[in-house]
Amino acid sequence: MKINPNFNRLPGNYLFNHIAEKVSAFKEGNPDSEVIKLSIGDVTQPLPRGVVEAMTQAGQEQLNSETFKGYGPSTGYPFLKQAIIVHSYQTLNIDLSEDDLFISDGSKTDAGAIQELFSLEAKIAIGDPAYPTYIDSNVMAGRLGHYDDMSQSWSELITIPMTVDNHFQAVPDFDEGEQPDVIYICSPNNPTGVAMTKDQLQEWVDYAIEHESVIIFDGAYESFIQDDHIPHSIYECEGAKQCAIEMRSFSKTAGFTGMRIGYTVLPKELVIEGQSLNAMWTRRQPTKFNGTSYIIQRAALATFEPEVKKELKDNIVYYQRNAQHMVDAFNDARIEHYGGVNAPYIWLKTPRDLSSWEYFDELLQESQVVITPGSGYGANGEGFMRLTAFGTYEDTVEATQRIVETYYK
Ligand code: PLP
Repeated sequence: MKINPNFNRLPGNYLFNHIAEKVSAFKEGNPDSEVIKLSIGDVTQPLPRGVVEAMTQAGQEQLNSETFKGYGPSTGYPFLKQAIIVHSYQTLNIDLSEDDLFISDGSKTDAGAIQELFSLEAKIAIGDPAYPTYIDSNVMAGRLGHYDDMSQSWSELITIPMTVDNHFQAVPDFDEGEQPDVIYICSPNNPTGVAMTKDQLQEWVDYAIEHESVIIFDGAYESFIQDDHIPHSIYECEGAKQCAIEMRSFSKTAGFTGMRIGYTVLPKELVIEGQSLNAMWTRRQPTKFNGTSYIIQRAALATFEPEVKKELKDNIVYYQRNAQHMVDAFNDARIEHYGGVNAPYIWLKTPRDLSSWEYFDELLQESQVVITPGSGYGANGEGFMRLTAFGTYEDTVEATQRIVETYYK
């Protein structure tokens, strides 16, 4: 009997479990303290009534044999695919067909599973810092080699550094013989909160076409984009259907984090070594996934109704006001920070050369504020913290004040 040895290669605990352990230890010792969490990227505003009504109605349909639903299509119901095509892509002048789309139970599922399409020898490039699922899922599959504690890097991973010096926007610039086969890009970015312009993204698309690489584009935060020159979809770039897979989620767009639904686009033009990745995923999905719940797909459909759309926009504006409040307060206090304009995250420099975890502990102990250590997202995240705009406005104002008051002490 042999277990999968790759799990032992994963360093440490899952970031948010480690934070939760520290917070619960603090609360045990300080039961009366009021801890404010601006750490995990989970929404706080409730669902629109129209969404809940759609779910309730879909639930009622299950009482009647004429309308009862058992297993649905493993890649999603056509009613939802059509709505996504019309409302999320035709509005960007992007043409997709229903069989380019794969509805799933969330982008984390897809971000973790998509690496199955590639050989274990495929060279992977991931930004540093990045959403941890990209690295961890490739490690579990046995693809990234060994982790070196000293350099905090994986022997077989091509790291794309994202630092203050490059404004957290790397360009495709790889050493000869170090060309990646698969490139993960997340824009607007979690955790830095910085988004790529269309020209910057086009450079990556051009690179991928030239080198026959595949881009995995995570657009989980596209609904937070405010600037016109930031693309909402990678398919706004010339030629992207030939080289890019796009993942999107209803979690942050529609406050659906607890509902579990997202989707992945694999255009049929995406052919590598003569093989259609769309055909491979069409074969993979019914083998490993039996489709997203009908009730939740009906709820997702309701998000495209005009009245619901308006309420969801108001929720986004609510979170954007939180982000703006933090940005303004940090600007006024001359605190170094990034992001927060086209994304619900702010990337804050730690004060006094503290490490991310040192500042985490200080804020928890002295100010009872919990934000996420940037080092949990990669070596380049050291010395930074990620703040989320998904809290309530009141918590955001209070936590910001506590941070500003203690930053330069
Ligand atoms: N991708 C990124 C970049 C995220 O930050 C998140 C969630 O925080 C996800 C994907 C996961 O989304 P979902 O809730 O659809 O699984």
